[in-house]
Amino acid sequence: MQAALLDRLRSTVGPANVLTGVEVSPYVVEGRTPDAVVFPGSVDEVSALVVLAGESRIPVVPWGGGTAAAVGTPSSRAGLVLGLRRLDRVLEHEPGDLTATVEAGITVAKLQAALGAHGQWLSLDPPEAERATVGGVLATNASGPRRHLYGSARDLLIGVTVVTAEGAVVRGGGKVVKNVAGYDLPKLFIGSYGTLGVIVEATVRLRPRPDEERLLAVRFDRVKDGGAAARAVMGSDLIPNAVELLDAEAARALGVGWSAPALVVGFDGLAEQVEWQCAELARLVAACGGREPQRLSGETWSRLGTVAHGAFAAPAALVRLGVLPTHVADTMEQGAEAARGRGLASAWAAHAGVGVVRGALFSAREAQEVEPIVATLLEWREVARAGGGHATLEWAPLSVKSEVPVWDDPGAAGRIMRGIKAQLDPNNILNPGRFVAGI
Ligand SMILES: Cc1cc2nc3c(=O)[nH]c(=O)nc-3n(C[C@H](O)[C@H](O)[C@H](O)COP(=O)(O)OP(=O)(O)OC[C@H]3O[C@@H](n4cnc5c(N)ncnc54)[C@H](O)[C@@H]3O)c2cc1C
Repeated sequence: MQAALLDRLRSTVGPANVLTGVEVSPYVVEGRTPDAVVFPGSVDEVSALVVLAGESRIPVVPWGGGTAAAVGTPSSRAGLVLGLRRLDRVLEHEPGDLTATVEAGITVAKLQAALGAHGQWLSLDPPEAERATVGGVLATNASGPRRHLYGSARDLLIGVTVVTAEGAVVRGGGKVVKNVAGYDLPKLFIGSYGTLGVIVEATVRLRPRPDEERLLAVRFDRVKDGGAAARAVMGSDLIPNAVELLDAEAARALGVGWSAPALVVGFDGLAEQVEWQCAELARLVAACGGREPQRLSGETWSRLGTVAHGAFAAPAALVRLGVLPTHVADTMEQGAEAARGRGLASAWAAHAGVGVVRGALFSAREAQEVEPIVATLLEWREVARAGGGHATLEWAPLSVKSEVPVWDDPGAAGRIMRGIKAQLDPNNILNPGRFVAGI
C-alpha cells in the first residue's frame, strides 16, 4: 500500500489502530494477506475509511469476530480489513420497550451479559458468541438451535445504520417495532456478507429471559425414526425452543453418552410448563421408538449449534443445506450414504423444524484425494436441490473450493442481485467477488 494512503489511514483512526506487515497475520484468509487492518472508533471514521479505500479502489473487508471470515468465494485480493471491534457499545436499552440499539462490533456474549442484568436477552444463539459480533451475525444471518422458536436475525432486527460504499451514513427501519414505510432496508443487509454496506449500528427486539430452560436428548436406532419423532413433536401442542436431529457421529461428538442417532429437544418458560412438556415429550417419542429422554447440562447449548462441524478434528469440508423439514432425515441419510460410498465419513446435525442441515465430511486417508471429496459435495448439493432446497459450502480447502461453488447459482435472480450491488457499490469495493452470483 502506498505510504501516502497509509499516512491518511493513520491520521484518520490514529497510528495505534492501523496494523501492517506481520501484525496483519491473524487476518490472512485463504492465503490472502490484507494490505492493512484498521479499527475505526466512530461511524464517521468508518465513513472516512471507506471513502479513502474507494478513492484508491482498494477492496474493503468488514471484520467482526472473524468466525466466518472464510465463508464465501475466495477473494482475488484481501485489500483493507475494517475491524469493528472498537464499536462495541450498547447505545440505548429500553427495557420497557424490549428494544436495544447497539454498535455492530459488540460481541453477542457481551450484549447478552448487558441485557441479562435487566432479565432480558436477544433471542439469537449463533455459535462462538464470545467472538461473533452483532454486525457479523446480521451480515451472515447466523443463528443457532433456538431459532426454532424465536426465528432468525430477520425476525429480530428493527433498524440498522450502515455506511455505504460511497461513505454515506444511512439509517433503515426505526427504533420501535416496524414503523417506517418503503422498502425494508434492514432486511436487505441481513445475510449480505458485507457486500452492500458496513453495518455500524443495529436496533433489535428483545425478550424477557425465561425462568427455566431444559435440554433433553432421546436415543433412536435410526435417523429416520428420530425424524419421525421430530415431526410428531412439531405436530403436537408442545412448544419446544429447539428441535435438533443428530446422526450417530454428531451425537457422539455432543457427548450424550451413546453413538446412535439422537433427537435433542429444548423447552423454556415457567418451571411447571417446562416440567409438563418434558413429561409429554417422553410419551410422544416412545411411540416413535425413542428411549427415555436424558437431561443434558446447560453448557451443551453452546456446542449444539456446531456439533456436526465439530465432530471431526480436521474435516475435509463443511456444508449447510436448506431443505423442507419433512426431508431433513432423508437428506442426512442420503448424504451419509454418498460419503460412505466413496470411503469417506460424515457427521450430520439439523435444525429439524426449519430444515437447516449441517454436514461435515471427513477423509481418513493420509493423502486427502480431492476427487472423492468433490464428487460427494456435488452429490450433497444435488440431494438438497432434488428436494427443492439449496446448499452452501461453508468451509473447504482452496483445492476443493476451486471445483465446488460455495453458493448455488441463483438463476435469473442473479441479475437483480448484481443490479442492487452495482447500485449500492458502483466501484465494487465491498468484499468483491465473495458472494452469490460472483458479487
Ligand atoms: C465452526 C463454525 C461453525 C459455525 N456454525 C454456524 C451455525 O451453526 N449457524 C450459523 O448461523 N453460523 C455459523 N457459523 C458462522 C458464524 O458463527 C457466524 O456467521 C458469525 O456469527 C459471524 O460473526 P462474526 O462477527 O464472527 O463475523 P465475521 O466472521 O467477522 O464476518 C462474517 C461476514 O460478515 C461480514 N461482516 C462482519 N461484520 C460486518 C459488518 N459490521 N457489516 C457488514 N458486514 C460485516 C464479513 O465481511 C464477512 O463476510 C459458524 C462458524 C464457525 C467458525
